[in-house]
This record gives sequence, C-alpha cells and structure tokens, in this order.
Amino acid sequence: RKAQIGVTGLAVMGANLARNLARNGYTVALHNRSVEKTDALLAAHSADGDFIRTETLQELVDSLESPRRILIMVKAGSPVDAVIDQLVPLLDEDDVIIDGGNSHFPDTIRRERALAEKNLHFVGIGVSGGEEGALNGPSIMPGGSAKAYESLGPLLEKISAKAPNGEPCCAWISTDGAGHFVKMVHNGIEYADMQVIGEAYDLLRSIAGVEPAAQAEIFKQWNTTDLNSYLIEITADVLAQVDAKTGKPLVDVIVDEAGQKGTGRWTVQAALDLGAPVSGIAESVFARALSSGNPEARLQAQQQLPEGLIATTAVANGDEEFIEDVRKALFASKLVSYAQGMDMLAKAGAEYHWDLKLDVIASLWRAGCIIRAELLGEIMDAYKSETPANMLLAPAFTALLEDLVPSWRRVVAKATAEGVPVPVFSSSLSYYDALRRKRLPAALIQGQRDFFGAHTYGRIDSEGMWHTEWSGDRSEINAEDSHT
Ligand code: NDP
Repeated sequence: RKAQIGVTGLAVMGANLARNLARNGYTVALHNRSVEKTDALLAAHSADGDFIRTETLQELVDSLESPRRILIMVKAGSPVDAVIDQLVPLLDEDDVIIDGGNSHFPDTIRRERALAEKNLHFVGIGVSGGEEGALNGPSIMPGGSAKAYESLGPLLEKISAKAPNGEPCCAWISTDGAGHFVKMVHNGIEYADMQVIGEAYDLLRSIAGVEPAAQAEIFKQWNTTDLNSYLIEITADVLAQVDAKTGKPLVDVIVDEAGQKGTGRWTVQAALDLGAPVSGIAESVFARALSSGNPEARLQAQQQLPEGLIATTAVANGDEEFIEDVRKALFASKLVSYAQGMDMLAKAGAEYHWDLKLDVIASLWRAGCIIRAELLGEIMDAYKSETPANMLLAPAFTALLEDLVPSWRRVVAKATAEGVPVPVFSSSLSYYDALRRKRLPAALIQGQRDFFGAHTYGRIDSEGMWHTEWSGDRSEINAEDSHT
C-alpha cells in the first residue's frame, strides 16, 4: 500500500497534523530526523488510523503515491531549507512539497521560485490553532500554484476547522508566499486582539476596582455579546484561575513581561514596507517590548517620573456604566485593528501580485485559529459583494460605530487622566479620527518638507506640484516647470 501524504517533522505540530490526517481516513507516512519521535507517535496513537513508519527520507518518498505530497513540519528557518535540499534529489516532476511551519513569507517566495525551476510544486501553508487546532481542525491558509492546490486542497479542507455553517476554514489564498503572509497578518491581529483585552482588564481593575475573579464573570458575559471569541473565552478562564501556591489570582503572580516569537514583528516590518498604517498591531508589538525590554527603566520610572494625574469624576467600584464603556471601547479598537489588517492585505495583494479575496480570508479565520470570533462572519459579509475603501466604511460597521464611539472617547479620556496606559485603545481612536478628519496637519508637513528639502507640494486649487523659494524671495513656482 502507498500513503496519500507524508509528514516529516513530528514534534507537536507535525504529529498532531499527521494524526488529524489519519483520523480523516488518509494513509500517512511518518518521518522524523530522529526516529524516536516517529516511534513515540506510533506507540501512543497508532489507533488513530493508517500510518506507514519510515526511517529515512528515501523510505518516506518511496512510500508515497504519485504525485507525492510531503508536508514539512520542522523548525522554521534554515531547517526547512535543509530538509528541502535533502528531498529534492529524491523527487519527481510535479511532486508537491508543503511547508506548514511558521515560515517568513519572503523565504516561501524564494523557495517556491527555486522549486518551480526544478518542476516541483512548493506550497507554503499558514496553520493556526496551536497544538489542539492541528489535531482537531486548524485554520489553514495555503499559498502556491493553483495546480498543486488541486491535488492537495481536498486533504487540507478535510482536516481543517469548520465554520459554524459547515464550510472548511481552508481555501487557496494565492501564489507563492501568500498563505504565509496571511498567516503572519493573522498573528499580527492576534497581538492586537490580546493587547486590547489586556487594556480592558487594566482599566476595569485600576479604575473600576474589579478584581480578577469578578472580571472572569464579566468576560464570560462579554463573550455572549459582539465580542464573542476564543480569546475572550480563554481570558475568562485565565482570570478565574487561582494560584495553588499562594491562593492569589494566578494573573497576580505571573511576571508582567510579555514574550514574543516574531510574527507580530514581521507583520509590522512588512506593513512599514507597504506603507500600511497598522498602528494597533504596531502598538501591541511595542507594548510587549516595553513590558519586557528594560526592567531597570520601568523600576526607576515607577519611583521617579511624576504622575501628574487630572481630577475627573470618580468611577465607583464595579460601576456598570464604566464597564459597558470599556466593553464598547474594546470592540471599537478591535474593529480598527481588523480594518488595519484588511487594509494591509489589500496593499500586499497589489504589491506582491496576489489576487487576495478578503472575504475568503476572513472566512478562514471564523474557526480553528486563535482570532476566531463571531466578528469574522460579519467581516466576511462586509467584503462579499463589494470591497469598501476601508472596512469601517462597510455600512454594518459604520452603524456599529455610531453606538461605540462616545464610550470609546470617554474611556480613552479617563485612562489618560488617570495615567493608565491604553496604547491600542488610544492609537486606534486617533486612527479613526484621522480617517474622518477633513483637513489633516499633513498639509503643514508638506510645507516643512518643501522648506528644508524642496520636496514640493500639491495645491488644493490647481494640478501639478509646487515649490516655494524659501531661501529666496518666497515666491511660488510650478515645480514641474522648473525641472524642464
Ligand atoms: P519545533 O519548531 O519545535 O521543531 C521541532 C522539529 O523540527 C523536530 O521534529 C525536529 O527534529 C525538527 N528539526 C529541527 N531541525 C531540523 C533539521 N535541521 N533537519 C530536520 N529536522 C529538524 O516543532 P513544532 O511542532 O512546535 O512546530 C513546527 C512548526 O510549526 C514551526 O515552524 C512552528 O513555528 C510552527 N507552528 C507551531 C505552533 C505551535 O503551537 N507550536 C503553531 C503553529 C505553527 P528532531 O526531533 O530530530 O529534533
């Protein structure tokens, strides 16, 4: 017998995807650099389905039906190149190599080009949902040739998460690095989602005096509103957890320095290259960096920097109006983060020649992945018939904002007066206000740029570019004329 797919790299993600494939009726060939992981998987889970044990990549290749499909699930970075280099001489034309790790999209673009020259298909798939998703149904974002997806797609769709309406959370995204790019932006949005929840928690605690156990109940209740999502659900669980050692809320004994593995940073770096204003994601990445980057500065600042608080109307402990304001501010900030992420995807599509369907991308995030949320169904609908110039301009979201904005302003004003940091709540509100502002101070910036660098400016009343002779008589000239 031959296997329909092979998996090399059987750490937690590879092992769980292999088990998921086997549970769905596929014969799966297993390979890992060190055979112990292969044997451990077989010893514990052979009942999941039909596995073929292999010890070498040659055996793996020989065990597969043609065209072969080989899923690489090794550590991201140079190990992926190492495995590809070992596999290539063993493969035949039209075989498909799949990289399901968290690879950086420029690497995927490079690998796809190199393998296409050898008449091999390379598919970079973004997989979200962690270990549990990999086993029970992840959200899958595949990029690569459409032809490769024809043979691979049905398997991936079968093992993927299913949206509430039963649709698979897996669909071809576009060519080469598009799948990994979309997964990267997913992770960037995840950073922003987590940060806005953190800001809400901080406000409830420090302004409305709501302790973690009581907050767990509030988050549970919020999970029955527009905010319904996996991250809100697990936040309730984390806040309810009591530390066995001290009897304190667990959140109070966890060091307040957030880690990061890099995908949020990649998102912001790519956004800078694209000129996509993802301020919510950027602030979230920076907030983690600020929390952990310089503990000594934080310690000194606590003792030394003046607080300069402003007296405002007091909020009573557990004040329900304030709590509801925070919920609305959280939701509005979350909408902005998604709008910024979608805008970044639209810009990337144009830059990298990917025909990205934003409604399809939103649909893939409805289940299986970390940012899964009720909101994704609404975002999908917003992009279905026509593409709004900005997600917030879809009528459904504009209508929602009508209700959210006053609360959002009250919360940001209160946080500012009381010295509670709300980098994403406040930067998202600034983004929102900048978007709707009739005249931006960008006009003044253009004047300054023209002053020191003769960068020229456009006029509101005539075509072309203009320059003022700042160091001369300050008369204005048509910049285009001066170049001819
Ligand atoms: P790891 O990232 O910890 O990688 C370990 C695996 O890589 C082992 O099978 C190891 O083999 C293999 N490996 C490392 N270097 C080499 C090499 N040079 N040649 C061959 N094999 C090598 O595994 P995970 O399962 O955690 O993650 C796999 C991928 O999935 C990563 O890209 C990760 O970022 C991504 N991912 C992880 C998620 C998670 O929740 N963990 C979620 C989504 C994606 P050996 O046993 O011989 O050491």
